[in-house]
Amino acid sequence: MRIGILGAGQLGRMLALSGYPLGLSFTFLDPAADACAAPVGEHLRGEYGDERALAAFCERCDVATFEFENVPAAAAAYVAARRPLMPGALALETAQDRLSEKRLFDRLGIPVPPYEPVDTRDALEAAARRIGYPCVLKTRRLGYDGKGQAVLRSASDLDAAWSRLGSRALLLEGFVAFERELSCIATRGRDGATAFYPVTENAHRDGILRTSIPRPDDPLQALAQDYTGRVLAALDYTGVMAFEFFAVGGGLLANEIAPRVHNSGHWTFDGAACSQFENHLRAVAGLPLGPASLRAPCAMVNLIGTVPPLQALARIAEARVHLYGKEPKPGRKLGHVNVVAGNGAARDAALARVQALLG
Ligand code: AMP
Repeated sequence: MRIGILGAGQLGRMLALSGYPLGLSFTFLDPAADACAAPVGEHLRGEYGDERALAAFCERCDVATFEFENVPAAAAAYVAARRPLMPGALALETAQDRLSEKRLFDRLGIPVPPYEPVDTRDALEAAARRIGYPCVLKTRRLGYDGKGQAVLRSASDLDAAWSRLGSRALLLEGFVAFERELSCIATRGRDGATAFYPVTENAHRDGILRTSIPRPDDPLQALAQDYTGRVLAALDYTGVMAFEFFAVGGGLLANEIAPRVHNSGHWTFDGAACSQFENHLRAVAGLPLGPASLRAPCAMVNLIGTVPPLQALARIAEARVHLYGKEPKPGRKLGHVNVVAGNGAARDAALARVQALLG
């Protein structure tokens, strides 16, 4: 079976690397000449708005999926009319707009921070007064890694935030003084079967994910699974989805969903019985899902902007290194390291050794 993937970044690369043992093959569509999944599949170079490129892509695959959520709606519709596209258009549209996401969570009874859509400077000021300071102004679309966001600490921050973001559709939400950030990675098969990984505790800096640690006995596992299951069912979802939460006061507030394999699930490559990448492929290929259980204590550290010498990383026995083959650039995700150890203390020690190499 040939899987078509819209996008050929590191997520596409890891999907392909996980799919070859199952006998799957891969075609990517991506406009970038240096797309990092290109060496591990057939790379069709073309724009997502180019019907000829989309037609060639559809011709080359049996089923289609995507590795980034900003696939233009028209491209998704074109592909979905010709090949089974999983996850489907509803999941994609919902996840592309923070307001649709929040409304879905509301409808499903999943708690969210207070929020309001805003489209004028006056509306922003009024919404900030209702929600209270601090609050966070976000673009409804195309935000990632903390881009397209501004924290408002008082009314004196309104003008700067508005002049930076005001040209786009926006959402204002309450600032959550969270205790932890957790994500729940889950897979849903074509037949509706689900598999949930242990919740992952995530640490961000400057809006970018730095480390993820799966917490198999977390008291919030059942709640995270319940909320994630509601969204999967409501979207009639096929494939892997990530749901990011703020843990606060013994409960969870929903932040956002990603309709794809997710950075906070990269640890599953080495630390789970069946990785998020393999399970996504199993789902879209119509195979039974694999077990999402933890194999051993593990953690993931992102390599951002620079990569420490491979000699030094390779000396850490617990470290599994994943490099994406990308040119170094400040703030760019160039790879990650999964540490897998015999117990939690050994995991933490190995994690500290990797982090020390990052400086
Ligand atoms: P997002 O793109 O919405 O996932 O935001 C990126 C990161 O910014 C999150 O992982 C949080 O660390 C932080 N953040 C986003 N929204 C809020 C919020 N309402 N309150 C506090 N921190 C937030």
